Amino acid sequence: MSSKKTNFEPDRPDPVMAEVRHDRERREKTYRERALKIFPWICALCGREFSGKRVRELTVHHKDHNHDYNPPDGSNWELLCIYCHDNEHSRGQVAEWYDETTPAGRQEPSSDNRPFANLKDLLADKKNS
Ligand SMILES: [Zn+2]
Ligand SMILES: [Zn+2]
Repeated sequence: MSSKKTNFEPDRPDPVMAEVRHDRERREKTYRERALKIFPWICALCGREFSGKRVRELTVHHKDHNHDYNPPDGSNWELLCIYCHDNEHSRGQVAEWYDETTPAGRQEPSSDNRPFANLKDLLADKKNS
């Protein structure tokens, strides 16, 4: 006598999780397409131009690093090529100004509108003591 049971074992991945994932992918695609419509296809950092299929190498960077903040006017977006985008994130946010200062540390190209001016003084103080 066979004791085979016919129970319902779902052999598919959780449909809810799949839906969430799909939704996220779709949203990313949407803001990328919108950014490509608003901005010229040029990397904002290195100035390389992209066209045709190569535009795949152009990515959307979020200026405040918040991927959920996507204003339709594109004010939080920046088009960066994959290389510069990688660079941008590995440098971190604070390194942005630090990188630009000269080794001497006294010359600053445009110091009048820098939110980190105080922070720099603090760091310099630490170094000297
Ligand atoms: Zn670039
Ligand atoms: Zn980014």
